[in-house]
Amino acid sequence: MVALRFARRGVCGGRSAGKSRSPPGAVGRLANGAQAEKCGDAVIPQSEWTWHGHAAHLSVRGRCRHHLTTVVGKYVISTLGDYVPDPRNAPDVRETIGSGNDDYYETMVWTLAGYCVEGCCPQIGNDLDDTKRYATALLANIGHLAMCLKYAAQQETA
Ligand SMILES: [Zn+2]
Repeated sequence: MVALRFARRGVCGGRSAGKSRSPPGAVGRLANGAQAEKCGDAVIPQSEWTWHGHAAHLSVRGRCRHHLTTVVGKYVISTLGDYVPDPRNAPDVRETIGSGNDDYYETMVWTLAGYCVEGCCPQIGNDLDDTKRYATALLANIGHLAMCLKYAAQQETA
């Protein structure tokens, strides 16, 4: 089991934004049962995050088999990867999306610019230059949740 642990004033920069609706020490739960401790005095509880099915960033997002898109307050946390450039002719051949040899997945953080006409897809605004890259989908899942928790900790609820 993989467990993520953040120092109370560690990973997220430690800024507490005041009143919290969630109990201290609340945890995020990953699909594999691992837990991530909430970062600092997080103020946007997971019940207020929204998850979206479409990939949110990268020009080749339509050929990324893995993607997670979460709106946490005024930010979009977008993770994608497992990029298969030619799914029709070479469905098992994937390429990296970063410059490193094992950069098969990445998480990026953007401002939320709005939603698509149908209202289902968050539209990304400015890149916050807070990018993480990973070799595996499991690490990408953990990294995505960690990033969501980090930004949840830095904002007031609406
Ligand atoms: Zn949409």
